[in-house]
Amino acid sequence: MSKSLQAIRGMNDILPEQTPLWRYFESTVARLLDNYGYKQIRMPIVEFTELFKRSIGEVTDIVEKEMYTFEDRNGDSLTLRPEGTAACVRAVLEHGITGGGQTQKLWYIGPMFRHERPQKGRYRQFHQIGCEVFNLDGPDIDAELIVLTWRLWGQLGIRDAVKLELNSLGTSESRGRYREALVEFLSAHLDKLDEDSQRRLKTNPLRVLDTKNADTQAILVDAPKMADYLDDESRTHFEGLKARLDAAGIPYVINPKLVRGLDYYSKTVFEWVTDKLGAQGTVCAGGRYDGLVEQMGGKPTTGVGFAMGIERLILLLETLEQIPEEISRQVDVYLCAFGEAAELAGLALSEQLRDQLPSLRLQVNAGAGSFKSQFKKADKSGALYALILGDDELAQQVVSVKPLRGQGEQQSIAFDALAAHLATCIVQG
Ligand code: ATP
Ligand code: MG
Repeated sequence: MSKSLQAIRGMNDILPEQTPLWRYFESTVARLLDNYGYKQIRMPIVEFTELFKRSIGEVTDIVEKEMYTFEDRNGDSLTLRPEGTAACVRAVLEHGITGGGQTQKLWYIGPMFRHERPQKGRYRQFHQIGCEVFNLDGPDIDAELIVLTWRLWGQLGIRDAVKLELNSLGTSESRGRYREALVEFLSAHLDKLDEDSQRRLKTNPLRVLDTKNADTQAILVDAPKMADYLDDESRTHFEGLKARLDAAGIPYVINPKLVRGLDYYSKTVFEWVTDKLGAQGTVCAGGRYDGLVEQMGGKPTTGVGFAMGIERLILLLETLEQIPEEISRQVDVYLCAFGEAAELAGLALSEQLRDQLPSLRLQVNAGAGSFKSQFKKADKSGALYALILGDDELAQQVVSVKPLRGQGEQQSIAFDALAAHLATCIVQG
């Protein structure tokens, strides 16, 4: 027997009953970003593997073990993008849109791919919305990115469920001095570190701070603190950011162990976390990456950005039952026609209605059927009204408008008065 066809583990279909919530989420974010002056950019889903190695860093979880990498027919090594920043930087460099120091405030949306262990809130194909800002180096723009996500949480009704964690990784100079101090400290406790941390100590010591191992965490309690190694520039930047968050009334906690998974961050790093989703609690994460563009071959260009995980935010909306009622109704009126002549008149009438009321959500019955079956379908569609067209109506050039959700009596409305009538009784969302 042949094996039935299935989607790849960790890669999900988003079914018709879920897409209204996705579209509501996506359009809410898109409108907000428009309103703050961010412009959308769309990058390919596949890039040369080299791009991610050079930007994300060879000794990160993503590059070491999570990438979907394959050879194409030319023998080039390609990778399904695991995140958006690298491709975005590649695109702005390739098109020279930041090269003269121009400011760019960009956003993107789309699927990302990481070979991780699938579980709630963690998938192999998942979706992010991200922002990247180039050539603005002050704390004001770091603050704006946080302020706009805070506003978004407010619009979505999830503000009370998320918490902002903040840290500064300093400039590369101050991070270098800190790294030395940390390596010295950890080397003295080498035999007590877990295996992963022992390895990271050699390849990417800051990542040891990120460990989930309890024994290593206990040792880290006495480790040197990044905050004590910040130079004046980093400190002033961080104070500037905190002052702005205070002014905007956004609560935060400083988390000295927040280092983020990727190599390229500097100064500000932040995460929005929730305790409502179990282990996969980070819904949005970002930070400043002032050295990245130059590292990728561009002129010195500062950058700062974030990415939010759409699946986790959708899960949070569902968990908190913050799903607006109007998104579940997708049909305003359902037209039932009985007999060939009524079907023809119904088609002409419905197209005329679509001209007159462009936002009307009108579903026309297809496949004919008895009174009973058409009404059943009309009701199931969620429509507010059924429009009924039979021989009697046709003879009088009227439509019977039957409320399906208990709002009043059935009425007979003349063909040429129907658009005006529907406009008054259907409140568009
Ligand atoms: P985590 O620590 O949860 O693995 P990360 O640091 O790898 O997250 P980022 O690369 O910063 O994640 O991506 C930004 C956001 O994208 C995360 O905060 C999360 O909301 C989402 N995200 C990351 N990986 C996944 C995944 N495999 N499945 C679903 N969402 C994800
Ligand atoms: Mg990860």
